[in-house]
Amino acid sequence: MSRSEAYVGLGTNLGDRRRNLESALAALASTPGIEVAATSTIIETVPVGPSGQGLYLNAAARLRTALDPRRLLEVCLAIEADHGRDRRREERGGPRRLDLDLLLYDDRIIDEPGLTVPHPRLHERSFVLGPLAEIAESVIHPVLGVSIECLRARLASWSRAEYGWSTACSAPGARAGPSTKGPAGGPARWPGGEWSEL
Ligand code: ADP
Ligand code: MG
Repeated sequence: MSRSEAYVGLGTNLGDRRRNLESALAALASTPGIEVAATSTIIETVPVGPSGQGLYLNAAARLRTALDPRRLLEVCLAIEADHGRDRRREERGGPRRLDLDLLLYDDRIIDEPGLTVPHPRLHERSFVLGPLAEIAESVIHPVLGVSIECLRARLASWSRAEYGWSTACSAPGARAGPSTKGPAGGPARWPGGEWSEL
């Protein structure tokens, strides 16, 4: 059976958040045709949507899967619903028990009604890129042509009011910006008080 590699982002800010994540990963792992190959650490993040909602827990997982992208997204949306998420009643960007996003699927580029891969906001969200970079550091974003770690570092440098690409970025025509390396030469992994590793 041919297997593809997919990455899923997980988020929750309602109920028993850690349990929501663990149970979502267990549901993915018990789905025929899905193997959970790696998971990131869980981080706590400040909500991006409407104010007044609680902090999120976010994580990412690498899947080996025989399901095609459409079927995989359907499984993700069904697991969200099983965890009490009701999209008809929720505010856009508002609190949710579980959010499962299909971030990447091999190097596929898909733009169909109801399914966009890579996830269209992946590169703008530090709460996605942080966990994802732990398990997909050198994976190349098939639209932007640079690595996930590069996107994470670039966003981190922007959030520090700097500009440009990390020197680690090797996209054709990419502009070298201020280095985002830490003092010991290692990557500056967790920027700016925006989140904390749990
Ligand atoms: P977000 O997770 O981006 O904050 P939602 O979870 O509310 O937003 O998703 C909105 C819709 O986006 C979903 O109904 C889903 O069908 C659609 N969608 C399209 N592409 C994807 C994808 N790659 N991953 C998850 N949802 C997607
Ligand atoms: Mg979603």
